[in-house]
Amino acid sequence: MTKHDSDMITIAVILEEQGGNLTPLSREVLAGASALAQTYGAVLESLVLKSTLPDYDPASFADEAAARLGKVAPQLILMGASSLSSGFCALLAEKLSAGLLCDCTEVRFEAEYGFCPLRPNAAGSEKLIYGTSGGRPLIATVRPGVFAAGRAAELIPADGELRMVSAAQQASAKLISLLDERAEKKQGVDITKADILVAGGRGIASCGGFEQLKTLAELLGGEIAASRACIEAGWADASMQVGQTGRTVHPKLYIACGISGAIQHVTGMKDAECIIAINKNPAAPIFDIADLGIVGNLENILPALIKALQEKKGEANAV
Ligand SMILES: Cc1cc2nc3c(=O)[nH]c(=O)nc-3n(C[C@H](O)[C@H](O)[C@H](O)COP(=O)(O)OP(=O)(O)OC[C@H]3O[C@@H](n4cnc5c(N)ncnc54)[C@H](O)[C@@H]3O)c2cc1C
Repeated sequence: MTKHDSDMITIAVILEEQGGNLTPLSREVLAGASALAQTYGAVLESLVLKSTLPDYDPASFADEAAARLGKVAPQLILMGASSLSSGFCALLAEKLSAGLLCDCTEVRFEAEYGFCPLRPNAAGSEKLIYGTSGGRPLIATVRPGVFAAGRAAELIPADGELRMVSAAQQASAKLISLLDERAEKKQGVDITKADILVAGGRGIASCGGFEQLKTLAELLGGEIAASRACIEAGWADASMQVGQTGRTVHPKLYIACGISGAIQHVTGMKDAECIIAINKNPAAPIFDIADLGIVGNLENILPALIKALQEKKGEANAV
């Protein structure tokens, strides 16, 4: 890493490598940061954290990262909001006297503030823009799905450096140690990767719950997702939740069934390429962002939709 012209804005990305490859979230963050840097003429620097279980020590990682980042004085440091990032970034923030903002849902350039991360307020009704005072750097962790994944390896700019930060083996007493790693059975699929999502809200209670949505999703080659109301009711797994406190998704098609369109839900799916909303209330806010709205009762619409798709499939198979 080299010191840049003081007029230049520098963004740094901290990337995680596992098994010799950047993690999918790191690829997203690198792609997003690279696009921002290219659009607004900033310099992009990148650091790769490469760790293995025995030598994982966030304190020594943070020491080394702070020493390297200190040389290039980035205004903004981005990292994916992973299980490793919160502890690591807290230590890094302390070492760099930087601000730290976790779980950001957007990063943008504002003429007034420069590069700034955003988070929704607690009610989800407003986006809050954060910055630091006194020219201190700001570290922001970014949630999965905020940036679209790109071909990260090609996006690393020619003047950027890809460095390995390895744990210092002779580090003094570790502040935090990883004691063990246990495989955990994954619940459900990763809805952030699906091209088609059929999402259910509280309104599906009246039409037999998720069974019909599963059939519809299967016919379309998609996956099912849910509003928080369904998670709280115990109808769906938390991994299926879309929204401010769930996943951010960018599918090609999002079918919202019996979802009112509360801002906390919309935050997580508004950037879908095509949104179809089915709701019996014509004044439901979900229609404000829908490309196609169907006002009606799911009890009638879902079976009709499933039947039509089954017939179409049958015809196609018969040809
Ligand atoms: C801090 C905070 C974070 C939150 N995070 C999230 C989040 O990440 N994700 C999220 O989803 N929510 C989140 N919420 C909750 C959010 O505010 C809403 O309460 C929730 O999204 C409502 O879910 P819903 O649309 O399924 O239910 P409702 O708002 O109850 O809407 C149900 C809809 O179904 C329609 N309906 C009912 N029956 C039928 C039928 N037979 N046919 C057709 N339509 C029908 C109704 O007209 C209604 O519009 C959060 C809230 C807070 C305060």
